[in-house]
Amino acid sequence: MFRQTKSALGKLRQLSFNAQQRTWRLNSSSAKERACQYRPGQKIHGFTVREVVEVPDLFLTAVKLTHDATGAQHLHAARDDSNNLFSVQLRTTPMDSTGVPHILEHTVLCGSKKFPCRDPFFKMLNRSLSTFMNAFTASDYTMYPFSTQNRKDFQNLLSVYLDAVFFPCLREQDFWQEGWRLENETATDLNSPLVFKGVVFNEMKGAFVRLRYFIFIATIERIQGFFFCTFRQL
Ligand SMILES: [Zn+2]
Repeated sequence: MFRQTKSALGKLRQLSFNAQQRTWRLNSSSAKERACQYRPGQKIHGFTVREVVEVPDLFLTAVKLTHDATGAQHLHAARDDSNNLFSVQLRTTPMDSTGVPHILEHTVLCGSKKFPCRDPFFKMLNRSLSTFMNAFTASDYTMYPFSTQNRKDFQNLLSVYLDAVFFPCLREQDFWQEGWRLENETATDLNSPLVFKGVVFNEMKGAFVRLRYFIFIATIERIQGFFFCTFRQL
């Protein structure tokens, strides 16, 4: 009986504390405290909350969600930081060493459904208040991150990035520009020798000039046993 009473009181105290804590968190001005109010199974704007984890070492609360319509994974890191960062990340496992993920990473930024102009990504570089804008191709994933301290700028960049990744134009000319093509060494002289040109082709030529980079790639290829798609920024 005593034990039961003690246990019941303990549970009540716990309930009372949780309710107080919850109210405090709902009213809190702290982003990481507000994120703690989410509960697994809760529906938010077409997403379902899967997990809520506080990470005190990084001063943030991580909220893992799944998009109900597509199954896309969304990780929200709520942190009291003046920068607002967003990143789209896709699995891009390379099937060979032709560099397709890296070339695609470039070509999707060459124009999209809502922004069919030439290189909207580069046009935003000097038109936004971004604190970071880039795109990366790693060994088996591609990411498109940006950050800004301005709320409106965040929405503008979000629109450009999402449209680029999910609705790219992917014009043939973009592949010639970003991938590789044969061109006369001297553009005005048709008798000059043909040479390979292309943005990604030149980027990778520049990367492989560095011996330490070449050794790093060769080592990783041997350890992993498959082609290593080079890690490059933009
Ligand atoms: Zn690149």
